[in-house]
Amino acid sequence: MAKKSSRKLHRKPHATIGVIGGSGLYAMQGLTDTREIRVKTPFGDPSDALVLGTLEGKQVAFLARHARGHRILPTEINYRANIYAMKLLGVERIVSVSAVGSLKENLRPGEFLVADQFVDRTRHRISTFFGGGLVAHVTFDKPTCGQVSRVLADASVHCGVPVHRKGTYICMEGPQFSTLAEAHMHRKMEFDVIGMTNVTEAKLAREAELCYGTIAMITDYDCWHPDHESVTGAQIMATLQQNAENAQKVLREAIKSMPEHRECKCGSALAHALITDPKLVPRATKVKLGAIIGKYIS
Ligand SMILES: [Zn+2]
Repeated sequence: MAKKSSRKLHRKPHATIGVIGGSGLYAMQGLTDTREIRVKTPFGDPSDALVLGTLEGKQVAFLARHARGHRILPTEINYRANIYAMKLLGVERIVSVSAVGSLKENLRPGEFLVADQFVDRTRHRISTFFGGGLVAHVTFDKPTCGQVSRVLADASVHCGVPVHRKGTYICMEGPQFSTLAEAHMHRKMEFDVIGMTNVTEAKLAREAELCYGTIAMITDYDCWHPDHESVTGAQIMATLQQNAENAQKVLREAIKSMPEHRECKCGSALAHALITDPKLVPRATKVKLGAIIGKYIS
């Protein structure tokens, strides 16, 4: 018995699917055989301990983006550590959920949108692993994984949650919400939803050769809507809560139905992206980025 538990203790932490939860989603229901681990990365500490466990026969790592108890601003999130920690655990695919505001009348609070495009209006965060003597330019015309996005949208349909299969997510720095002028501008530009976190995660996931798919859970209409003044905080909280409950169901279904093999190019994003002459890449950078570039430069 003692032998068994000591073996368990020394089992190497591993997961194939990473889940990053946002506002309203600070834990993953249904995970069994769970354990918490604090992952050390060359970029510092992730937002919180990662919770590893099994769900529908798959090994899953869950991370609360803003930490449990919602203690970290969008600007303060250590995105690089969060994504690198997933990479170190062996994760190949990240599914993310986050709360967003709607910029269109037909994208209603309580509905989900699987974002397939981003506009990056962040200003105060580092959104690349590269630098330090190594230049890389990954393609990002299609910033999310088509396969994972399909699985997420199908899972929403399966669970009876109204879902939009594509849309443009504008990522602002925050933490303040938009001014009316900004909201009207975003609507004129025909963006769909607005949030504060996803584009940074998507960029880093691509650089780390991880698939990234994300569900934007619509919490409210942004301030542009004529009803904005009459919507109470309690109503928004109720929608946030309902969305989180739906997300738990949808995530479970998505993880269950996720095909084993990746039918996408996410896993070779760096194949033609590393520009610097390998002989000139500083040793320290090679070591620091080992989990990401090790198969190309050693
Ligand atoms: Zn992919």
